[in-house]
Amino acid sequence: MIMKKLLILLLAIAAIQVHAQDLPHYKRIVKELSSAKYQGRGYARGGANKAGEYLEKEYRKAGVDAVIRQPFTIDINTFPGRMEMWADGKKLKAGVDFSMREYSPGVKGEFPVYHVDTLDFDADRMFADLARPENENCLVCCEFWFTYRHREAFARLQSRDGAPNAGLLYTWTSPIKFYKAYGHRVVDKPIIWVTPESVEGVRSVRVNVENEFLEGYGLFNVIAKVEGERHDSCYVFTAHYDHLGNLGRRVRYAGANDNASGTAAIVTLAAYYAGHRPPYDMYFLSFSGEDANLRGSEFYADHPVVPLDRIRYLFNIDMIGDNNPVQYCEVSDEGMRGYALFERINVDKGYFKALDRGELAANSDHYPFAVRHVPCIFLENQEGDAFPYYHTIYDDWKHAVFDSYEPVFRLVTDFIGQY
Ligand SMILES: [Zn+2]
Repeated sequence: MIMKKLLILLLAIAAIQVHAQDLPHYKRIVKELSSAKYQGRGYARGGANKAGEYLEKEYRKAGVDAVIRQPFTIDINTFPGRMEMWADGKKLKAGVDFSMREYSPGVKGEFPVYHVDTLDFDADRMFADLARPENENCLVCCEFWFTYRHREAFARLQSRDGAPNAGLLYTWTSPIKFYKAYGHRVVDKPIIWVTPESVEGVRSVRVNVENEFLEGYGLFNVIAKVEGERHDSCYVFTAHYDHLGNLGRRVRYAGANDNASGTAAIVTLAAYYAGHRPPYDMYFLSFSGEDANLRGSEFYADHPVVPLDRIRYLFNIDMIGDNNPVQYCEVSDEGMRGYALFERINVDKGYFKALDRGELAANSDHYPFAVRHVPCIFLENQEGDAFPYYHTIYDDWKHAVFDSYEPVFRLVTDFIGQY
């Protein structure tokens, strides 16, 4: 009887070790990367690079065989300084009531507000209105998706020669998102995202925003390698560790879900494989510059440390800090050969209620590999409790969710065991 119990216990321990996902380790890394030390892992205050240095140490601690730094440069618009705005004298909160379009210049002054008549829109009438003296040097305020449907007119409003307005206020979601950090140029006029309620009926705004355009700014990818029994091909894990960084001096985007979650997941996978000699070489690519439009992964795909055609399968993990029981994924054409296996494992083990495969898109670091014919899958847990915080200041440690880590870990390690 005792022997039988012991045997069950031993089997249970063996089963744990087969998987060895490490939730405490994972949480520690998410917490660290979301902390103020890394300033939202952006480009304005060196936060991304500081996070890269931390990751190099973490990979070494995990016991990998090699850690390589791969530098590259980007041009990027940032907002490291003043970030203030008042609407009819009422102070607005940066990152909550307003944020900046990624390619906006800085702006300082007091401006009348011209509200676009979206119910009875007439572009000619709008341009005639803007030529009136009372609208001189105004900010044109309009709902973003409306401007998107009338792109031509609003493109004119954005250019210095197209219209006399000083800039634009785009109303959008609440809390406001700092949508992207893709500012590889700076446009003529300031463009400010605002929540509808903070500018409704407002007659004038005062703004003081500083931008800084960084040219040839240095970032780096961190590449960790665990040697397998065979070197003729390899498995690759990718996750970006950069995020949106700062919006002015005080506001930072911690990015606990996007993508401290994926970053931490692949470090724990590296630790796992470092302790269990894998059948093939394993590479763990922590990319920077993703939130600046996939710059790190594009650079790597053009300068890979092993030829891309030796990749058996690539797993890109971006935003798994959530709890939707249905797991979203995208798969490259060449990756479809393995997709049936993912589905079979998932059904057998019940890790997720289902996998939901969407259209391949240039929305994360798998994309540069997918278009270069690498078999790959992108795993992102969408539309759980953390998802509404995407690209807001609330994607932080306080709102971090951990449910998807273990099933994702098990799904990919099972896959490698059977592929
Ligand atoms: Zn991301």
